[in-house]
Amino acid sequence: GARRTKNVLILMNDMGGGPRASAEAIRDAFHLEFGEEYRVFLKDVRKERIGWPWNDLDSASNFLLKHRQLHTVLFHFTSVRWIYSFILAALAAFYANFHPGVDRLYSPSEMVAKRALLDGLNESQIRVFALPIRPSFCRDIVCKDDLRVELEMDPQLPAVLLMGGGVGLGPLEETAKALGETLFDEQLAKPIGQLIIICGHNKDLASSLGSLEWKIPVKVRGFEAQMEKWMGACDCIVMKAGPGTIAEALIKGLPIILNYYIPGQEEGNVPYVVDNGVGVFIPSPKETAKLVAEWFSTRAEELKKMSQNALQLAQPNAVFDIVKDIHELACQRGTLASIPC
Ligand code: UDP
Repeated sequence: GARRTKNVLILMNDMGGGPRASAEAIRDAFHLEFGEEYRVFLKDVRKERIGWPWNDLDSASNFLLKHRQLHTVLFHFTSVRWIYSFILAALAAFYANFHPGVDRLYSPSEMVAKRALLDGLNESQIRVFALPIRPSFCRDIVCKDDLRVELEMDPQLPAVLLMGGGVGLGPLEETAKALGETLFDEQLAKPIGQLIIICGHNKDLASSLGSLEWKIPVKVRGFEAQMEKWMGACDCIVMKAGPGTIAEALIKGLPIILNYYIPGQEEGNVPYVVDNGVGVFIPSPKETAKLVAEWFSTRAEELKKMSQNALQLAQPNAVFDIVKDIHELACQRGTLASIPC
């Protein structure tokens, strides 16, 4: 019978690139699964007045995240590092407060689910599904060769993707330069790989890298709306330990080199990547470049194995599990309010 349109409002803190990407994933999955039955609205609560001290903490941490050099310098002073960690911990505590009255809590891991139980929620309120990733990462997949034509990349050379989440964090400039040197074979006088750098919202980085001369094929890009294409066209990724980018890289079968993590909130993602055999943690730009060069030559088997592990670990359908579960909840409530469903 005729179904009433339901409205979904997603409130998010549009910081970095992760929250928006997750919100878009849920919106797109609703559309694919239920068509016109749902209308989804995204709203950035950061633009609303959420009150002191959260708004100030938010802008303080955003400021530090944006100014990478300052951030790096600050980290050489333990006391400042402690304060910064405190700010991030306070933010995390703010967001990690679980309301015992929610109809449902979706948790990406058993660990978070356990924490919610400690906070007074009961089992029936909690569902453990992986992080919601935009359906474009697993639907309508275009093959690597075609993607490389579309993105005007070299058709043959193995490609490394370098990025640092939505705001372009981590030692990106040093790593780009090291890769530019190491992926050029001096003896044969030719490149053994190509480099894609996605700077996200970090405009300073994009302009400084964009003005350099390179010995190998390099593309420097700003914020890209179609990350699934760039990932699909590359063979490995160097990145900070952001949960969204990790989950996406797994879906695309990209072996991962983590070169940075945001203290506190992203720390636990490092052992997740390393222990599951899908990547390594290397903070040094030179060591990173060395490993990529080996992956593209003598250690190609290791790259292949990690790629297979990544595909096995990936959970591209979690976002559909989430929207279907929300739909069931909406139907139950609908019955109560005697709306046909
Ligand atoms: N992202 C994007 N375009 C860009 C850079 C990043 O769409 O140019 C997306 C990326 O695909 C991922 C998200 O931004 O979905 C980053 O989330 P993550 O959790 O890795 O880190 P955050 O940026 O939130 O710190």
